[in-house]
Amino acid sequence: MSLAIENNYVCPVCGNSDPLYIGYKNGKPYCRKCISFKGKEADNSYKIPVRANYKLSYELSEDQKRLSKALIENYKRSINSLVHAVCGSGKTEIVLEVIKYAIECGDKVGFAVPRRDVVIELHERFTTIFKRNKVALVYGGHTDNLNGDLVCLTTHQLYRYKDYFDLLIVDEVDAFPFKNNEILNQFFKLSIKGRYIMMSATPDKELLNKFKGEGFDILELFSRFHKHPLPVPKLESGKLIYPYYSLFKHLRDFLKKNKQVFIFCPTIKEGKITFTILSIFFRKGNLVHSQKVDRSQIIADFKAKKYRYLVTTAVLERGVTVKDLQVIVFKADHRIYDRYSLVQIAGRVGRKKDAPEGDVIFIGRKISDSMIEAKEDILDANKGV
Ligand SMILES: [Zn+2]
Repeated sequence: MSLAIENNYVCPVCGNSDPLYIGYKNGKPYCRKCISFKGKEADNSYKIPVRANYKLSYELSEDQKRLSKALIENYKRSINSLVHAVCGSGKTEIVLEVIKYAIECGDKVGFAVPRRDVVIELHERFTTIFKRNKVALVYGGHTDNLNGDLVCLTTHQLYRYKDYFDLLIVDEVDAFPFKNNEILNQFFKLSIKGRYIMMSATPDKELLNKFKGEGFDILELFSRFHKHPLPVPKLESGKLIYPYYSLFKHLRDFLKKNKQVFIFCPTIKEGKITFTILSIFFRKGNLVHSQKVDRSQIIADFKAKKYRYLVTTAVLERGVTVKDLQVIVFKADHRIYDRYSLVQIAGRVGRKKDAPEGDVIFIGRKISDSMIEAKEDILDANKGV
């Protein structure tokens, strides 16, 4: 009898039916794959108020408008879309119209990203854009209100939304930990009732081919909205104190020209040490990392020019836009940086129409493969401009 169960048991949570991952307790089967994903689930009867409004203080570029229309058309025709857009091309702006359309149809809309920091920023942004709608924010430890007209959540929380979303947008599909994570992918599939839109700045070939094979409409946005190419990083390396020498030299040059600078460090500890040293020589700097609670205030102050430079960890790798910014990646040969994260960081530079250029410098003890690959990827992307 137990064999019969074994052969037929399908986990109601994640869909797993592999007998290798099914255990038995008191004769009853349970799933070993998703045992850590348990908790309150979203209320499927939540009613969308069928009114949505958003306001942007600027106009979309022709390319953005074209993609925005295509996404609505695909949604109406029940086609999934993949948006392949370079950093700084304004991906978030492209989906506003389809979000509005879906909400006005009374459909349930979610926007999922792998990382908590990014989801918090995204929620802030959507709250100011969709002023009259309820935008929910859901991540590990922040799960009191699961329902909203639009739900911003981490991909880890998708398991709370079974057969729920009429439209699910997933950004950074290339980023850890969503990539190659079978369980998260399973929750993703189970959470979708309707259609989805995947977005990525740096999809690898495997991902692109997979989506092509699944009949996706692949929409490409290679030019940044101001039509300027991505800044190509300069790679520098040397032994002993060379990285510090190089960091000092570039920072001094940027500050002389009155340019603001982000200095990326691989770990919080590195960040603290680097900032301590730099602050002896350079005034008006600050330090941000994932454990700093006043992070958004520091970033706001930086934008208001209260600081000349910020030492930061990967926490500012995505999402933040500062006008006329220069970027130094210190110890860029550290193993935490892969080609994709380095491309993302380079994408912080030159994001504004009236300041489309800037410098990106990768400094290491040696030049790593990731540093070279990131530079090649950027040169490739610029061919399309
Ligand atoms: Zn399961």
